Amino acid sequence: MKEFKAESKRLMELMINSIYTNKEIFLREIISNASDAIDKLHYQSLTDKKININKDDFAIIIKIDKEKRTLTISDNGIGMTKEELETNLGTIAKSGSFDFKNQKKKKENIDIIGQFGVGFYSAFMVASKVEVISKAYNTEESNSWSSSGIEGYTIKKSNKENYGTDIILTIKDEEEYNRYLEDYEIKNLIKKYSDYITYPIKMEIEHDKETKLETINSLVPLWKRNKKDISEEEYNTFYSDKFFDYEKPLSHIHTKAEGTLEYNSLIYIPAHASYDYYTKDYEKGLQLYSNGVLIMEKCADLIPDYFSFVKGVVDSPDLSLNISREMLQQNKVLRTIANNIEKHIKDELITMQTEKRDDYLKFWEAFGLQIKAGIYNNYGMDKEKLEDLLMFYSSKEDKLITLKEYVENNKDEQNIYYACGSSVEQIKTLPQVEALTFKDKDILLCPNYLDEFAFKVMLKYKDKEFKNVCSDKIDLDTEEEKEELKTLNENSKDLLKLMKEELDVEEVKFTSRLKNHPVCLSTRGEISVEMEKVMNAMPNNDEINAQKILEINSHHPIAQKLQDLYKKDPEELKKYSKVLYAQARLIEGLPIDNPTEITNLICDILVK
Ligand code: ADP
Repeated sequence: MKEFKAESKRLMELMINSIYTNKEIFLREIISNASDAIDKLHYQSLTDKKININKDDFAIIIKIDKEKRTLTISDNGIGMTKEELETNLGTIAKSGSFDFKNQKKKKENIDIIGQFGVGFYSAFMVASKVEVISKAYNTEESNSWSSSGIEGYTIKKSNKENYGTDIILTIKDEEEYNRYLEDYEIKNLIKKYSDYITYPIKMEIEHDKETKLETINSLVPLWKRNKKDISEEEYNTFYSDKFFDYEKPLSHIHTKAEGTLEYNSLIYIPAHASYDYYTKDYEKGLQLYSNGVLIMEKCADLIPDYFSFVKGVVDSPDLSLNISREMLQQNKVLRTIANNIEKHIKDELITMQTEKRDDYLKFWEAFGLQIKAGIYNNYGMDKEKLEDLLMFYSSKEDKLITLKEYVENNKDEQNIYYACGSSVEQIKTLPQVEALTFKDKDILLCPNYLDEFAFKVMLKYKDKEFKNVCSDKIDLDTEEEKEELKTLNENSKDLLKLMKEELDVEEVKFTSRLKNHPVCLSTRGEISVEMEKVMNAMPNNDEINAQKILEINSHHPIAQKLQDLYKKDPEELKKYSKVLYAQARLIEGLPIDNPTEITNLICDILVK
């Protein structure tokens, strides 16, 4: 028996005990090695005219022997000589494919994964003994390498007929490993991890006392095929099979990048949010492949949070199969791919918005909230990237429009007006909205709590400032009207002061901006009534109060009534103040602290 090199022993122990908790990937690793070995022979056959092999003969064959508890993976690839068995399998981190990788660079279009890792040793996670019988192509001799763990390995002559390699795993004799001796289980693992290996993976399946070879994998993955050869139907079927969605996607983005960075990606935009999408259980990410071999089920680093709804796959030969999650995060290749993908998604959404508005509206209904959150998150860092995807309900158009459309429709306007509330219908009835609509202004009606937070982060869109119509800064009066109002307010100073003392507000004043309604509530400063509601609904927040101003319509008969009461019956004026303020709060959807008192006051006034 020969000993493994010291560092190999240590790595092997480390491997088996800690790195891979996910034991089933051993099969992926071994199949991937087999595929590499075939690649190498295939490559030689392309450059060396003397080698005469039909590409269709290449295959990986898997056999299970339940009695002997063996799982055998055979390939008819390049094979290994005695020396190669020693160096390749006796020493970890001495990778045979490493040199080959450099060789590959000279020749383009040869699809070979250059790995540098510890893949083979993962077999020891499930096997008590591993035997490798190999015959290098174009040699006479074959050898058997075998090992039962870190103690060491033996090499002896064998009598393998054909070139290639058989890996024979004696599966550990414990209950949890029995599944690796089941056809069904192995088939699933091939489907899951190695479906798109470019050579057929065949399994010996017994059927009516006859053994047949069944090809398990799909060979050429959809994303590697030419776009023009793929039907819409195929794209959609692939999506529903792979991502378990009953509804067909809104759109797909199929990209093939060649040159310095090689990758294929196929990204889908779903038509609806999955049931867990807006919960913390949802995991974003794309399936990541290295040349047809699955590396990661959900690679989160490939997509930003605001596009977390997309589904898809990325496949790049420039990524190593054994790369760890931690290394992936800093991986340059991955970052470049992620940047490209983000750009593609954005472009696709903008195209959908302009060319297929109905689809876009469907998208918006499902994922608009995520885009708005994207604007608001990270202190607005991504707002420029996302602002053109936003849609809001226009009071003038009576439908959802983009900000770009708002600006185009309202060329002479310096501001972008918006109003918040609980529903479009409710917002339409707000006194301030009615008043501005009367002045022919277009107002974005925002029933979602995130809308105003997004505006606050954006501040402006193309030089136009966002203005809440309920803010006290809105001022559309003429100079004359302003002067008149100023005089009225000054002359009524004592009256307004008395009213204010009765109420929990910043100010009470007359306004000329209302049309038919007697009162409205406006706010001063950064916090609007809607924001107050949202923030107070959140847990662990101190109570937040918007600075409220009770505005009274100077053209409404109530204005004169208040003046009269002030002179004749100040006590009665106090009651009126309370009722009017309660009215203004109700219109804004704010609660009333003292409903019994208010209803009694109303009744008092009614019976007079
Ligand atoms: P890696 O594949 O990352 O190089 P492994 O430990 O999985 O590392 O394999 C070590 C080496 O053993 C491979 O690089 C390859 O040279 C050789 N090898 C493994 N399996 C086979 C096989 N089926 N046929 C030929 N060579 C193989």
